[in-house]
Amino acid sequence: MASVLVVEDDQFVRSALIRHLTDASHTVRSVGTALEALREVAHFRFDVVILDLGLPDLDGSEALKMLRGITDVPVIIATARDDEAEIVRLLNDGADDYLTKPFSVEHLSARMTAVLRRSGTGSTTDAPVTRVIEVGGLSIDPLRRQATLDNTPLDLTRREFDLLAFLAGRPGVVVPRKELLAEVWQQSYGDDQTIDVHLSWLRRKLGETAAQPRYLHTLRGVGVKLEPPQ
Ligand code: CA
Repeated sequence: MASVLVVEDDQFVRSALIRHLTDASHTVRSVGTALEALREVAHFRFDVVILDLGLPDLDGSEALKMLRGITDVPVIIATARDDEAEIVRLLNDGADDYLTKPFSVEHLSARMTAVLRRSGTGSTTDAPVTRVIEVGGLSIDPLRRQATLDNTPLDLTRREFDLLAFLAGRPGVVVPRKELLAEVWQQSYGDDQTIDVHLSWLRRKLGETAAQPRYLHTLRGVGVKLEPPQ
């Protein structure tokens, strides 16, 4: 039994995949866009991701690169493109295996078993497994939506929690404001002030200020990063 993320915008293919995987006792979450997939892998731990290449928001290879930027979860590419050069490129970019659509249930099972065996997960894994994020004295449990700083619980609003969890999921990485708006606020545009206000609330709860940051660092005109105090 594995925990699987299905990234597929075609409703028909998606439900067929979910049905088959659930029948095979896997735990399945599914999304229809690359940005949603990035959010999922930032918040949950999966044993394998099945990634459709033709997604509405991002090109499949872009999506794969961004996934690889935040997780080393095994990724099986599902592609309608029977293009050998592209498949080789994707395997080089970090895909673990691929399936050319239309594929059979047996074919998918075989690929999944192989990928899970290689990554050392699978039948012995209790899914879904919560990934608790730890950065310095910060501990964030995305499933329970609890966060502590130096073992003291933090009283965060939903948005503050999402912002903290998203940044802590990629410590030391400067996240552009646009990406924060898209990922935490699910907005494609917006006011920088929205982010600034929430950051300042979050800072206060973490006991720091913009002038004397510990965890949260704002890089003017670039973005925000979270890293352990020096
Ligand atoms: Ca598609």
